[in-house]
Amino acid sequence: MPVAISACLRGEAVRYDGSDAAAAFPHSQLAGVFEYMAVCPEVGIGMGVPRPPIRLVGTGSKLRSVGVDDAGLDVTEALNAFGRFQATQLKRACGYVFMARSPSCGLDSVKVRAEVRGEPQRSDGRGVYAASVLAARPGLPAEENERLFDSALRGAFINRTLTYAHWRRLERVGLTAQRLIEFHARYKYLLMAHSLNHYRAAGQLLSDLRTGVAAIGERYLVCLMAGLTRPASRAGHANALSHMQGYLKRRMDRSERASLTGVIERCRTGAAPVAEACAMLRSALDRHPNAYLREQAYFEAVRWA
Ligand code: SF4
Repeated sequence: MPVAISACLRGEAVRYDGSDAAAAFPHSQLAGVFEYMAVCPEVGIGMGVPRPPIRLVGTGSKLRSVGVDDAGLDVTEALNAFGRFQATQLKRACGYVFMARSPSCGLDSVKVRAEVRGEPQRSDGRGVYAASVLAARPGLPAEENERLFDSALRGAFINRTLTYAHWRRLERVGLTAQRLIEFHARYKYLLMAHSLNHYRAAGQLLSDLRTGVAAIGERYLVCLMAGLTRPASRAGHANALSHMQGYLKRRMDRSERASLTGVIERCRTGAAPVAEACAMLRSALDRHPNAYLREQAYFEAVRWA
């Protein structure tokens, strides 16, 4: 899957001091998963290497990217424009890995300073370039490099990119009400495992598709991705597995049903791993084929969890 990435994380010596940040990315754990599209926005706007360091200043959402030593150096508009440009250039990208804490690339970890005296105000700002790309590509899965060292967060990001890739294929063949419903049917239980609220909101969005399918589709994608960004809890997994089990209930005998219910409940309390409950449901599915369940994205997602 094609995924955009801050170029310094790919080992390109493009940081303001001429260094790279390859060590801050879990290359070996992601070997063979992604095809990377490396971008350095500060080099892209012509700042060169080495260059004067910049920082984020301002309040609320009105943030500016200015020089650390020279506040007269303001590259906010240039980074914004480059972000909009890259959003069109990176059409193939199914996700974006951003460098944490960078005033250009950071996602939710950038130190924001006061305009006048420069004292730190907060540390959850978004880099100007990252904000511009994501505003132009709502729903695009995005993650910061450091979080990808965590296997659960890494698996969740891979799943979001797989989901996004599927969505892009749908857009290419043309979004219709029927296709949107079929798409949701496939992601329903995965979304339920991650967030019941988003699951309900997504269902609500698709409740009337008589007009405005394209606009509803955009809102649906944002809702789906926001839900999949929430970590799936044990209770969420148990809930989704239990609903899926319902499709096979009548075809399973009493002992089969009791075993599966038991492992799902143990999964809920943490006494059994999610993978065990999922494997047992899959094996029940082999004995009692059900095309609807077989298509559930949930099963593929648990592989990466
Ligand atoms: S602007 Fe982004 S890609 Fe370039 S060096 Fe800084 S963090 Fe890395």
